[in-house]
Amino acid sequence: MIGRNVIINVAHEVGFDLVGVVRAEPLNEERNRFKEWLLGGNASTLHYLERNIEKRFDAGLLVDGSRSVIICAVSYLSPYAKSDLSGSSTKIAAYALNRDYHLTIKEMLAEVAQRLKVFAPQLRYRAFTDSAPLSEKSYARRAGLGWIGRNSLLVNPKYGSMLHLGELIIDDVVDEYDTPLVGMGCGSCHACVDACPNGAIREDRTIDTRRCISCRTIEREGGDAVPLDGWIFGCDACQKVCPFNLHAPLHSNPKFDPIVAAEEFVAERLASMTDEEFRAIAGDTPMTRAGLDRLRRNAEQ
Ligand code: SF4
Ligand code: SF4
Repeated sequence: MIGRNVIINVAHEVGFDLVGVVRAEPLNEERNRFKEWLLGGNASTLHYLERNIEKRFDAGLLVDGSRSVIICAVSYLSPYAKSDLSGSSTKIAAYALNRDYHLTIKEMLAEVAQRLKVFAPQLRYRAFTDSAPLSEKSYARRAGLGWIGRNSLLVNPKYGSMLHLGELIIDDVVDEYDTPLVGMGCGSCHACVDACPNGAIREDRTIDTRRCISCRTIEREGGDAVPLDGWIFGCDACQKVCPFNLHAPLHSNPKFDPIVAAEEFVAERLASMTDEEFRAIAGDTPMTRAGLDRLRRNAEQ
């Protein structure tokens, strides 16, 4: 058995802002809601969402022998994320100016696991960050890291929603588990719904991926074109207006400092850029995976 306090302290030492621990149990309620969402045809061309549904809501199925899930979160809220981009024709989601969080979070989770092994040498674990069919937001909500906002993102009362999540699924029990936050939520706020350029946020707190600019500029191919409102990679419009982000502190972990400037990707530059130049400028950011052609197409739309 590992102490919850040990886990919390270690995760904070490694640089996470928020940590919670829950049992590796199935999340039946969340799974059923997700199935209803899929039945409504909402996944559209994102077919990967239709696979591994049971595993997505059951960490025990995802990793044999798992007993507990440690959910960690870290803020990436930057001055760029808070800046007014209303006049810009080259808007980029704030996280995309940073080193790819998949790399950084995986390294941080490995560091947490290694430090935990000092206290529990037999500990076995698997680390995930947006890389397995695990509903991270659902486990994070269960662990008290926040609630699911109207824009379907996890919102924490102190840090807002510009958070990266990562999980360690471990084969040991913990002496105390966390529970969801009580009495906190969006209240009567509707700011994100009103700010979404394409009306992609539905009343039931789900997203129409066909209309969501974030999905359209990064993941989704085909279908009718939708206005991108100047976004060339991702979209932060619904997060920029969230009062919890407006009042949140800027990120404090330097691993999440931007490594490129958005100005490097203005349409005129993209138009004449070679693949080599693009890879050199985009470096380890998530934009490299999207590729120059995709950004160029988004900028031209
Ligand atoms: S990411 Fe952009 S398009 Fe998608 S729901 Fe939020 S505001 Fe709307
Ligand atoms: S903008 Fe308002 S409604 Fe939307 S997630 Fe934030 S608090 Fe909730």
